[in-house]
Amino acid sequence: MSLLSKAYYKEKGGQLVTPSQYEANNRANDIEYPALCISCNEPLFSYGVNSPNVTECFKHHKATNIIHKCPLHSSSARNGFLDRTPLDIENGMSLRNEFFKKENLLCAYELCHKIKGGKSGCLSQSEFIDIIQAADATGIWNYKGIKLWGIMIILLLKSNYSFSSGIQYYYKFKRKKIRRKCPENEWWNDVILQPCFLENNKEVDEKYKKCIPFSESWYQKQISTRHFKEEHAKIIFSYFKV
Ligand SMILES: [Zn+2]
Repeated sequence: MSLLSKAYYKEKGGQLVTPSQYEANNRANDIEYPALCISCNEPLFSYGVNSPNVTECFKHHKATNIIHKCPLHSSSARNGFLDRTPLDIENGMSLRNEFFKKENLLCAYELCHKIKGGKSGCLSQSEFIDIIQAADATGIWNYKGIKLWGIMIILLLKSNYSFSSGIQYYYKFKRKKIRRKCPENEWWNDVILQPCFLENNKEVDEKYKKCIPFSESWYQKQISTRHFKEEHAKIIFSYFKV
């Protein structure tokens, strides 16, 4: 289960804090500043700080209208079975280091930009930084057996998208075939990213938007032609200090 482990303190784009840092900061300031969601900017509350046997995390307040809209909401359908996937923290740490290399950040930007529509200005560097922060705050590196290409595709779950009409959609994880018992080391087989309307959570018909296969070959095809070079990503690199 991936929990939301970080939030912006006090303001959007502010200091990133863990739940215990958040509470300590408020005590030190003697003011109850808000903790804001990296994705939807809604105020969050901290949960489980100093509780034995509970992993501390941030949670959204119970407002049903943002459940689908925020990629980080614990009740969002986007992650589906991913929330029940076993974790491998050690592998996650080395994968995270690998991801934050210039070349891989650039590939991630290339992919996210393309799926956002591929037009100039469709994905600002600061919006991309929020996607990465959202991914990091939910520990996407830690899913057991996951590889770099899988990380890249999972990033696509952390954003919303628009048709040219302005109607918004998002992607959720879905198995093509229901399997009752999936071996731990092949949970990613037969998985797709299904587009769904943001408004009502209904699946988008294939004739309007195709599903994305969760596969290495699909990812490699997307980044086989590149538009962005290092000089395009100065803000991203300086933000992540690479
Ligand atoms: Zn949120």
